[in-house]
Amino acid sequence: LVVLDGVNKWFGDLHVLQDINQTIHRGEVVVVIGPSGSGKSTLCRAINRLETIQEGTITLDGKPLPQEGKELAALRAEVGMVFQSFNLFAHKTILENVTLGPIKVRGQKKDEADKRAKELLDRVGVGHQAAKYPAQLSGGQQQRVAIARALAMNPKVMLFDEPTSALDPEMIKEVLDVMVDLAKQGMTMVVVTHEMGFARTAADRVLFMADGAVVEENTPEEFFTNPQSDRAKDFLGKIL
Ligand code: ATP
Ligand code: MG
Repeated sequence: LVVLDGVNKWFGDLHVLQDINQTIHRGEVVVVIGPSGSGKSTLCRAINRLETIQEGTITLDGKPLPQEGKELAALRAEVGMVFQSFNLFAHKTILENVTLGPIKVRGQKKDEADKRAKELLDRVGVGHQAAKYPAQLSGGQQQRVAIARALAMNPKVMLFDEPTSALDPEMIKEVLDVMVDLAKQGMTMVVVTHEMGFARTAADRVLFMADGAVVEENTPEEFFTNPQSDRAKDFLGKIL
């Protein structure tokens, strides 16, 4: 579904993505882990074209990522992204946060968008909060709204960049549960996370990044029990 072929990116002299060759298959859940600064966020951002790459190609469904204009807006709809900070529109209700994209970008009618938004909000467990504003919700609830908002665009793939790392411990599980459900329903997902429990239960494949390169790639079982590289052993030693 998403193919990265010979992807290289530099920030000035810093080689942040080093020859990334990856195919993310439809329905696959790929967890990306690695030390701070290893390029995980940059990789996610490149997939929805929030960052440009200097070498290589990235295709979605066989088509190269568009560079600008309407096609780029359409791409952002097809590649849902959930960040560490929830990024909800503060002056819009929860329902409006979810319906805005479908109405503006997809041209849905308000009734239709409302109906679908309510279904999605129910699905992530915040249906009863639809009329509230983001500040009236907990962090975990806001993050689940952010997931519903991305899903409302019917994305082909969902990117999650440390979606639980800004949350209090008791709220992490409620967000991870929503993500596990999504994975079970067959959503294609790329998830940057330090939640090893999630990686073990939901990941089909783990990519370990260090210094901009994918150093190791394996099933979660293999990766966690039998890391191959010194970098991965060192990293796991620190976080497990
Ligand atoms: P973390 O775990 O801390 O989120 P990460 O693996 O997501 O780290 P990135 O955010 O992708 O890492 O950053 C990779 C490298 O690129 C880092 O060294 C970072 O300082 C650098 N970098 C990121 N964004 C920019 C930018 N806009 N301009 C210059 N350098 C940047
Ligand atoms: Mg990051």
